[in-house]
Amino acid sequence: MQFLKRTLLFSLVIVILLGLIPVHAQNNYVYSCKQGEDKKIALTFDDGPHPKKTRKIIEVLEKYGVTATFFVVGVNVKNYSEGMKEIIDRGYEIGNHTFSHKILKNSDASCLEKEVISTENEIKRLGGEVSNLIRPPCGVYDDSLLDFSRKNGYKIVLWNIDTKDWEHASKRDIAKMVESKVKGGDIILFHDYISGKSNTAEALDIIIPRLLDLGYEFVSVSELLQ
Ligand SMILES: [Zn+2]
Repeated sequence: MQFLKRTLLFSLVIVILLGLIPVHAQNNYVYSCKQGEDKKIALTFDDGPHPKKTRKIIEVLEKYGVTATFFVVGVNVKNYSEGMKEIIDRGYEIGNHTFSHKILKNSDASCLEKEVISTENEIKRLGGEVSNLIRPPCGVYDDSLLDFSRKNGYKIVLWNIDTKDWEHASKRDIAKMVESKVKGGDIILFHDYISGKSNTAEALDIIIPRLLDLGYEFVSVSELLQ
């Protein structure tokens, strides 16, 4: 009887402890959202800076006074420094999306370091502040990147809403995609660099005021994951 009681007590403690560990913390260094957030969400923009489209997006963000995180590609930082300076001057959070938009699969440590560090160097060269956030291109990561991130203190940031703006979705479809899924703790994927027509800025002009009306607060990824 005593043994049964002890076993039950032990099981109860385990169940309580598991309940206290947030889901994202069980997945080493990889985040696609923040569990348990009420109204905070993070807008993220990949692949830029773009010589024109980054500015258009920033104009909409500024219009509503909301913040966002830009996951920049090193070679674009180098080639389109004006767009990068806009991001830096306005104080948006900057994440790392590799130097060459390389898919980080089966990459050795020196290749990972080169992709990440050379992007950081380009950001710093323009006076920008780097963060510890890496978004691997196409969301592809493996044990090598996990290992690299663990050793060097980086977080791998994915997303849980893909707006499909990169497929040239219409502004209404992008807005519908977000509004039908949004909830507190979301990390929402957009792109400021898209080849050809982009409807991202126009979609944001629909989405942001609606979400503000619903009481959502826009924060950087780092703030969301705190
Ligand atoms: Zn990308």
